[in-house]
Amino acid sequence: MFHYKVKAHPTMYNGVQYRSRLEARWAAFFDLAGWKHEYEPIDLPGWSPDFRVTFECGHSECGPDHTLLVEVKPFFDISQFEGHPCMRYAYGRSNGDAIPADASAAFGANPEVTFWEMAHGAGGGCDCVMNWVEFYGDKWRQAGNIVQWKPQAKAVQSNSEEKLSDAARDALTKLYNYRRSQGTK
Ligand SMILES: [Zn+2]
Repeated sequence: MFHYKVKAHPTMYNGVQYRSRLEARWAAFFDLAGWKHEYEPIDLPGWSPDFRVTFECGHSECGPDHTLLVEVKPFFDISQFEGHPCMRYAYGRSNGDAIPADASAAFGANPEVTFWEMAHGAGGGCDCVMNWVEFYGDKWRQAGNIVQWKPQAKAVQSNSEEKLSDAARDALTKLYNYRRSQGTK
């Protein structure tokens, strides 16, 4: 149902093998942000979330932290998650079914493509990583360096300078992957 053409590269990070570099990058990002995370923690009917994450909340009306069940996909637009179970459990519930978390969440190709709805303080509502992680851009770049696939890193660096944005860098990496898969030298 949710097809995408980018080939996933299984990536090791901190002793765990992730199905894709993007998942490994999110794991590294969670560590940099101080979020607890667990890979493939649980099977729900019709959905096996990629992560359970827990992060502290200082609000007096909240518990000490919030928990999300997260789906990761290499999407650059949150609307691409439309119809996926990860968009279904606002406030941890859907048609009377509850999940063991504050909400289900969609995490895309970077922290600017994230979404969930949860209770927070006296209210809550639509939320995203940008609201919860300081300097999320720096941390995302750092996470990318930590899980960089070495041969590609060399190839990318030889053709570029630091000015490349993450999106441009990822596009370039994809191009290298495509070329590599086609056997182009
Ligand atoms: Zn809160």
